[in-house]
Amino acid sequence: MARYKDEQCRICRREGQKLFLKGSRCYTDKCSISRRNYAPGQNGQKKKKLSEYGTQLREKQKTKAFYGVSEKQFRKYFEMASNSRGKTGEVLLQILERRLDNVVYRLGYGSSRAQARMLITHGAFEVNGHKVDIPSYLVKSGDEISVREIRKDNKVIKANVEENSARPVPEWLQKNESKLSGKVIRLAERTDVDLPVEEHLIVELYSK
Ligand code: SF4
Repeated sequence: MARYKDEQCRICRREGQKLFLKGSRCYTDKCSISRRNYAPGQNGQKKKKLSEYGTQLREKQKTKAFYGVSEKQFRKYFEMASNSRGKTGEVLLQILERRLDNVVYRLGYGSSRAQARMLITHGAFEVNGHKVDIPSYLVKSGDEISVREIRKDNKVIKANVEENSARPVPEWLQKNESKLSGKVIRLAERTDVDLPVEEHLIVELYSK
């Protein structure tokens, strides 16, 4: 069980970066990256030189883990991005940021993207007044995301609001904590995305 509980931290340690997969623990000195910043396993402390393919693969795996999406979904977002007019890598990140589970997490109503997904699936949120229970729902500029009236007493959400009130909300979102809501002011730009990733390597990987 202990091993299972540490599974998310092992992902961060493998990528050598904090991916914020475990909620409040990620913001404390209990974070495994703060204590053991080397890859898990017997040879974790040995520095491995990655091939070009290996480096590209790691950037993709890291981004998938950060947003908690499957390979199939990730590939779909890549196709959407490559069919758009903008820079594929940047648009890919923008699409991932638009996911409702990410927005709920960014607004501090979920302690992690995984918990935000669970709350959304349980019908805790609405977009522009309509219930949305699909974590992959993509928000648009101007959308208003709110905790549904019947879920405003939800203990998990209340605890998250209290715990995350000091956590900064990205500039592309506006939070209204008293109303348990938030608004998409504009879509996220590359500079808004706090994941240290070289997205062009993902583009190169999928372009092979
Ligand atoms: Fe674990 Fe969170 Fe730290 Fe990652 S950021 S190692 S999930 S505590």
